[in-house]
Amino acid sequence: FNEIPKGLPEPGKTTVFDASENIDLDKTPLDGGFLVKTLVLSIDPYMRGRMRDPSIKSYMPAFEKGEPLTNFGVGVVLRSEHPTISVGDHLYGMYPFREYFVSKDANSFRVLENKEKLPWSVYVGVGGMPGQTAHHAWKEYAHPKKGDVVFVTTGAGPVGATVVQLAKAEGLKVIASAGSEEKVAFMKSIGVDVAFNYKTTNTFDVLKKEGPIDIYWDNVGGESLEAALENAAMPGARFIECGMISGYNSESYHVKNLDKIFARGIHLFGFIVIWLTKWEDEFYKTIPGMISRGEIKYKEDVKRGLECVGQAIVDVQTGQNKGKSVILVADE
Ligand code: NDP
Repeated sequence: FNEIPKGLPEPGKTTVFDASENIDLDKTPLDGGFLVKTLVLSIDPYMRGRMRDPSIKSYMPAFEKGEPLTNFGVGVVLRSEHPTISVGDHLYGMYPFREYFVSKDANSFRVLENKEKLPWSVYVGVGGMPGQTAHHAWKEYAHPKKGDVVFVTTGAGPVGATVVQLAKAEGLKVIASAGSEEKVAFMKSIGVDVAFNYKTTNTFDVLKKEGPIDIYWDNVGGESLEAALENAAMPGARFIECGMISGYNSESYHVKNLDKIFARGIHLFGFIVIWLTKWEDEFYKTIPGMISRGEIKYKEDVKRGLECVGQAIVDVQTGQNKGKSVILVADE
């Protein structure tokens, strides 16, 4: 991480790829820890929020200038002096954006069993943090009832698409939006009843025709949130406030009709996935199996090599990613 961006991050300026560091894989001291080879890294929308002045506190620490980015990843253990970590274990957790690293903190990683033999990349997507986001908050806040109408924004991404499939599994009517025809086709393929491109079709008009909305899964804020507020079922619609990506790279947009929150008796639930870990065991017991049986489908946008990280970050912020954004750092 090189520089705090104004607006969109710029590859080569905000982030730089540095190939100068070398590590002796056989001799680097472990001091009771373990040496990990990184296989896949996740690129997520929230990373933009970590590119900030470190004095501003938030739910995750700011990236440190001159230090590697960090985010969720999966890797394989090459050497270990740690009592609970073995050579060949595959670890999921917060990774530095490095090809190899030494850690002593076994508690911050999960050893993946992967009985289903899913590709490792799945464990940073629908089988990892974004899937957990959808699963945990759906369980905690959605309280679905027969006949409910659900609206999901960024319905083609890993969070949105998982929500869509959880809602469809409950037999609910699902409306979902995304920003390209390709994404609309994917949303239809996973069972969305009313899939539309918010760039070419007016969200308010769709919700007026297909609503009112009992559950809104908000990933974008802005105009979509305004349209959902106007079309919320009355009273007691649940608005699951998961993200507001329309505002991550600018501070100029303000939602104009927040009065609808009281006037329509809307229940708002804001959350950060790491606060809902009570659902984690259930997630790992059920979701990998659903993925392997094709009950949760997903799309990935895989780029190979750490040098692609800067562009992948921009793509996720601008919607150029065609599915869950993943950096493939190395094969096994
Ligand atoms: P995606 O892979 O779906 O990528 C983000 C997408 O947001 C882009 O592909 C783009 O798709 C869309 N987008 C970008 N700008 C806008 C805009 N101005 N208006 C509408 N859509 C826009 O991301 P994820 O599935 O990983 O994450 C989805 C949301 O969930 C994000 O807001 C993220 O911050 C949030 N999140 C929240 C968590 C929590 O704990 N609360 C945890 C994880 C994620 P398009 O082509 O459709 O425009």
